[in-house]
Amino acid sequence: MSDLSAFSLAGRRILVTGANTGIGQGIAVSIARAGGAVVGVGRSGMDETAEKVSAAGGRFEAVRCDLADHAAAQAMLDRIWGDTGPLDGLVNNAGIIRRADAVDLTQADWDDVIDVNLKTVFFLSQSFARRVLADPERRGKIVNIASVLSFQGGIRVASYTASKHGVLGITRLLACEWAAKGINVNAIAPGYIETSNTEALRVDPDRSAAILARIPAGRWGTPEDIGDAAVFLLAPASNYMHGAVVPVDGGWLAR
Ligand code: NAP
Repeated sequence: MSDLSAFSLAGRRILVTGANTGIGQGIAVSIARAGGAVVGVGRSGMDETAEKVSAAGGRFEAVRCDLADHAAAQAMLDRIWGDTGPLDGLVNNAGIIRRADAVDLTQADWDDVIDVNLKTVFFLSQSFARRVLADPERRGKIVNIASVLSFQGGIRVASYTASKHGVLGITRLLACEWAAKGINVNAIAPGYIETSNTEALRVDPDRSAAILARIPAGRWGTPEDIGDAAVFLLAPASNYMHGAVVPVDGGWLAR
């Protein structure tokens, strides 16, 4: 008889930011399929995700929060924990991208991206860790959504590339500080995934063809591809993984 309990999220309650669409929605559905409960956080309605999670047999709680405001994000996590109970995992998925030539990028495009993609990721992780560390019996898992642009330069996405290099750095730093204290901090580096984040690339026939030709798997990724990797990093199977960044990119970084 097979025992897949190391890959199960049964009894676990996991907060996923940016859960209304794209990769966040895929992660929420995968968590539900693995038996976990999802607290979805976002600034938009999450009805579609709620329906998909419920169809997968999971429980979904929706919480509205604008993650551009890191203090509001911290207060939101404290409120969830204080009012409705502890969390076992945090998936820092929400993110934005602004495309412009480096000579034209505005300070607003810099600040907006760094605030959501990096500053809030750090301070939400800090709030989560403070709660976990307050209870010596408790363990926690943090999964950050990085990017292949945590390793590469990219084109016309200066603030995004800076933010994702930063996510890689704080993933490693937080893993070093918390590994011995019961918190695993790891990251996933998605390649080119079919979501609104990459819509501008997919509607440009030249960029779209060039990207596809470079992906060894011969296809763009789907949110589910990322969701299933997230389940592994949230489950007991990855208990000895700290500060790792798992590329889920169809082989893009291997090329
Ligand atoms: P997406 O479909 O645009 O989803 C982004 C999510 O972040 C949405 O739920 C969005 O909510 C949320 N969000 C953005 N700003 C927010 C804010 N201020 N407050 C609350 N929520 C906010 O893009 P995606 O591709 O799924 O992106 C998810 C993550 O994967 C991002 O960190 C992205 O950088 C990363 N990633 C994506 C790819 C890719 O190829 N798609 C590759 C590498 C990494 P709204 O719908 O309300 O805007």
